[in-house]
Amino acid sequence: NLTDKLDKAFHILKGHGKITDVNVADTLKEVRRALLDADVNFKIAKEFTTKVKEKAIGENVLTTLQPGQLLVKIVKDELTELMGGDVAGINLSGTPSVILMSGLQGSGKTTFSGKLANFLKSKKGKKTLLVACDIYRPAAINQLHVVGDQIGVEVYSEPENKNPVEIAQNAIKHAKANGFNVVIVDTAGRLAVDEEMMTEIANVHKAIQPQETLFVVDAMTGQDAVNTAKAFNDRLNFDGVILTKLDGDTRGGAAISIKSVVNKPIKFIGTGEKMDAIDVFYPSRMADRILGMGDVVSLVERAQEQYDEEEARKLQKKIAKNEFGFDDFLSQIQQIKKMGSMKDLVGMIPGAGKALKDVEIEDDAFKHIEAIIQSMTPAERSKPSLIDVKRKNRIAKGAGRKIEDVNQLMKQFEQMSKMMKMMQGGGGKNLMKMMGG
Ligand code: GDP
Ligand code: MG
Repeated sequence: NLTDKLDKAFHILKGHGKITDVNVADTLKEVRRALLDADVNFKIAKEFTTKVKEKAIGENVLTTLQPGQLLVKIVKDELTELMGGDVAGINLSGTPSVILMSGLQGSGKTTFSGKLANFLKSKKGKKTLLVACDIYRPAAINQLHVVGDQIGVEVYSEPENKNPVEIAQNAIKHAKANGFNVVIVDTAGRLAVDEEMMTEIANVHKAIQPQETLFVVDAMTGQDAVNTAKAFNDRLNFDGVILTKLDGDTRGGAAISIKSVVNKPIKFIGTGEKMDAIDVFYPSRMADRILGMGDVVSLVERAQEQYDEEEARKLQKKIAKNEFGFDDFLSQIQQIKKMGSMKDLVGMIPGAGKALKDVEIEDDAFKHIEAIIQSMTPAERSKPSLIDVKRKNRIAKGAGRKIEDVNQLMKQFEQMSKMMKMMQGGGGKNLMKMMGG
C-alpha cells in the first residue's frame, strides 16, 4: 500500500548526510510512484514532487536529523497543504440549517446522513431531522428510517410523493414548526453521472437554498472520484466533500486529488458502516496517515525548533577532552525539556514508544536534579570528582534533598558521561543523538 511504498522511498535516503540533488531524486521518484499508485492524478503528483524538491534542496540539515526525516517533514507539510491545510467546519447558521447530500448511488449518502445526524446530536446537541428524498427505491426510504431509529433521530418521508422538491420543502416546514436545528436532506443517486440526476438535485438545491451542500464520494473509487466531484461541483458548486469508506486498506489518493481539482475542502470522512464511524477531516492527520510516519514527523519538527547546533559542537569537544561536567549535564536536561515532556519524546522514537509504554517517566524528576546541581559550586560542577561525602551533605542540604538523591544523581551523571563517550564512536541513536549531537 501507499504507506509501505513511501517507507521504501524514504529508506533510500537513510545514511546520507545531506539533502542533495542526487539522493533526493531517487526518493522523490519513489514518492511520485507511490502517489500515482494511490490514484493521485499524474499532474498533481508531478507538481507535488517538484515543489518538495525545490524546498528540500539546500535545506540545512541539522546534525540531529537524518536528511530522510527532514524530507519526510517537507513532504508532510506539502501534503497537508495540498489537502486544504486547516480543518474546515460546517455552516450551522440557519434556523434550521439545511444540509443537502449529493453524490452517486452507493457512495454512502444515506449512511453518512445518519452519521452526521448522530454526530450533531451527540457532539453538538442539535435537534436534527433526516429527510428521505430518494424517491426511486422504496427500500431507500426504509433504509433511512432504520438508520433514524438506530440513532434516535426523526425521519421525514412521504412515500406516495414522487416530487423530491416538494418533499424537501415540506420537510423544512415541518422542521420550522417543530423546532429542529438542522435538516439533512438525503437524495437519490445513480450509478454514473447523468443529466436527469443532475437536474433533479439542482432543482432541489435551488428550491431549498441549503446552508451546506455536501458531495459524498467513495474513497475507493480513486481517480473516478475526482471526475465525479468535478461533474457535481460544476452543477451544484458544493461547499464540501465527504470522503467515505476510508476504513481498511483504502488508498488515500482521492483525498489528495479532490481538493486540488475542485478547490473545495474535505469536511468529514467515513471510516466504517456503523453510525459512529465518522471523523472530522484533519488534513495534517491525513498526511500523517498517508505517510504512516506521524511520530517521526513531529519529532523532526520539535528537534528542528529547539536544537542548537553550535551547542552540540561545543559539547562534543568537551566530551572528547573529558571536560563534560554538571553544567553541561544541566544544559542537556534543559534542551530536552524544551522539546517537550520526556514521555512524549521517548514515545516518538520508532519502536521505543511501545516498549516503554508502561514505564513511568516523570518530568518532575528534572526539578530535583536541577535543584541539586544548582547547589553545587562552579568548581564542583566542572570537576565532579571533587565531590566527597562532606560536600555531598552540604549539596543535599542546600537543595532540600537527601544525600541518597545526590548519590543517585552522581551515578546518573557518570552513566551519561560514559554513554556520551561511547557515542563518539558513532552508532548512537535518536534520543542519544539529541542529547549530544
Ligand atoms: P447511498 O446510495 O449513497 O445512499 O449509499 P449508502 O449509504 O446506502 O451506502 C452504500 C454502502 O456503503 C452500504 O452498504 C454502506 O453500509 C456502505 N458504507 C457507507 N459508508 C461507509 C464507510 O465509511 N465505510 C464502509 N466500509 N462502508 C460504508
Ligand atoms: Mg441512499
